[in-house]
Amino acid sequence: MVSFEPNLEPPSATSPLLRQDLELFFAVAPNLLCVLDREGCFQRVNVQFLKILGYDMAPLLGQPFLDFVHPEDRRGSQQSLESLREKGGTVSFENRYRCINGGYRDLVWHGIAPAQTSVPDQTAQSGADDQGNLTGLIYATATDITAQKQAEHALSQERDFSKAVLDTINVLNVNKQKEIALHYSQQTLASIFDLAGEAIICIDQRQHIRLFNQTAERIFGYGAAEVVGRSLDLLLPEALQAIHRQHVEQFGRSSVTSRHMGQRPGQVSGRRKNGEIFPAAASISKSTTKDGLWYTVMLQDVTERIQAETAIRRSEAQLRTTTNALPVLIAYIDADERYQFNNRAYEEWLGVPYETLKGQSLEQALGPDIYHTIQPYLHQALKGETVTFEVEFPSGVLPYRWVSVSYLPDIQEGQVRGCFALTQDISDRKATDQIKHEFVSVVSHELRTPLTSIHGALKLITTGQLGHLNPQGQELLEIALNNTKRLTRLVNDVLDLERIESGRVKMIKVRCQVAQVLHQAAQAMMSMAQSEGVTIKVVPVDTHIYADPDHVEQTLTNLLSNAIKFSPRGETVVLKAVDQPHQVLFKVIDHGRGIPEDKLETIFERFQQVDASDTRKHGGTGLGLAICREIVQRHEGRIWVRSTHGQGSTFCFTLPKTPSHDEP
Ligand code: ADP
Repeated sequence: MVSFEPNLEPPSATSPLLRQDLELFFAVAPNLLCVLDREGCFQRVNVQFLKILGYDMAPLLGQPFLDFVHPEDRRGSQQSLESLREKGGTVSFENRYRCINGGYRDLVWHGIAPAQTSVPDQTAQSGADDQGNLTGLIYATATDITAQKQAEHALSQERDFSKAVLDTINVLNVNKQKEIALHYSQQTLASIFDLAGEAIICIDQRQHIRLFNQTAERIFGYGAAEVVGRSLDLLLPEALQAIHRQHVEQFGRSSVTSRHMGQRPGQVSGRRKNGEIFPAAASISKSTTKDGLWYTVMLQDVTERIQAETAIRRSEAQLRTTTNALPVLIAYIDADERYQFNNRAYEEWLGVPYETLKGQSLEQALGPDIYHTIQPYLHQALKGETVTFEVEFPSGVLPYRWVSVSYLPDIQEGQVRGCFALTQDISDRKATDQIKHEFVSVVSHELRTPLTSIHGALKLITTGQLGHLNPQGQELLEIALNNTKRLTRLVNDVLDLERIESGRVKMIKVRCQVAQVLHQAAQAMMSMAQSEGVTIKVVPVDTHIYADPDHVEQTLTNLLSNAIKFSPRGETVVLKAVDQPHQVLFKVIDHGRGIPEDKLETIFERFQQVDASDTRKHGGTGLGLAICREIVQRHEGRIWVRSTHGQGSTFCFTLPKTPSHDEP
């Protein structure tokens, strides 16, 4: 309830003082204030309403209030409005309210609809408009709790990078020296005055309280009658009373008409009736009345907000301690490719204090070479894809030579805000792999010569030139011959892969016609296709690539051989090339059994097969795709497969049209 100092002459219904003050509240209130007509359409809104939601006044007026409510919250809001319309009184409700940019803000609304016959108090009485008609209108005020919501969300998730939340935690926005352009009826203003989510306290020149609204009563624990007429000191911690008094006097003499109190929310303190001191955010404005200068203080209790901030800071500190203890590089990269968070591991990696990386661009922090290596993956992540890759940096540049990097996009309200980056040193694993490969390669090499001679001998025996075996002996011989063939293939593939991987086999890149490479590969696989009853269809394109033609053909024949192997008789395998701006996309399409989703990545690893019986049934080695991937990567291309299990697969890879910048 709004109360006036009893022993002073209260401002009358038409008092310019009241009107002026109320209008001032309307304009400076940090809350969203609005007046709706019977149909629930906007009649008036305050400047803060427009500012927070981003709308212009003219197009908003006449629009239905409910049209801006989030569809999921509409029912609740509609019920509240209907209850107000039918029964009057006050209601409180919460909803998400649409801004001009399509996003939503979380608002807590308090609405009031004065009943026709009741005259709630002096102010309401004085608030009748010229016609005395009070009904039909709904007065509503909203507090923007988006920041608190976000804070709660951040807390519940125990997530870091809460800076954004902290930044958006509301600063009381008081419009300084705004012209009050709208003339509201006193009823409107008085209703809003009591409804306001802030404490509104008017003090006179002697700093004695003259007005004390309902929220002030709630926050301070005093009834209006207890405080009106008494010094403002009553509401302040003792230690701050003198300095506060000085501040108010200084403000009275200054040329500004309104300003924040304190640098930031929580810097101002209030004292409740029970002696409790609480942090507050407050603004002060002044107006000249016939009684001299009056001040209006608008104040919010920010205890919860400060607690939320403290909790966020604490959880941020905990997270930082945890991430700092981890031996992996953890970072948050914003949409402008700048570091916003790095853990301590970066210190060892880049040799600079990790805190200094904040705000630095990746190119600046990592240097152009490393940046260009990771840039394509980073771009993918900033488009919303989760990316994982392994990369080798030139030795001596950084302490880790091989790293595995994962980028997880940070998507909020459908927009990529940045990405979380995890980088792990895998140099040890790579070194072990290297030893393993070398071992396998040495063993394979040693096997190859005796295998070739065994194979030759067995082949000679099967021809019968050295005498005939009985049928059982002949059959065993055939099996032995087949197995030596498979072993030879395996040994050859192992050696092939090892030589390409180690770089001992060089890619001799030249400009070559795509159509020619396609036809040669198709030709090479023709006899296999015929014996399997499969047709190969070539869809060429008139362009060129810059690649090693033998190795490209090896890749294509590997893929074709798989496509033929896994296609039913009578099917067609398509070999296709697509011209793209900087590269050519190759596709090998079959309509065979397809590949299950969980195997789409792994089949490119060595000895990975969809079905353990594939080697036996189809005579594969499990190395073909690993070789293909190695060849394509040596050309700076990408290889992948798309497949619908049971309906076929499309293997794709890209090759460049021109030499890369580090090639002659
Ligand atoms: P393999 O020599 O066994 O064919 P690859 O590395 O070429 O070895 O292929 C690995 C595995 O991937 C195969 O064993 C098979 O399970 C699966 N695969 C490859 N291509 C196809 C395809 N076109 N259709 C279905 N499965 C395929």
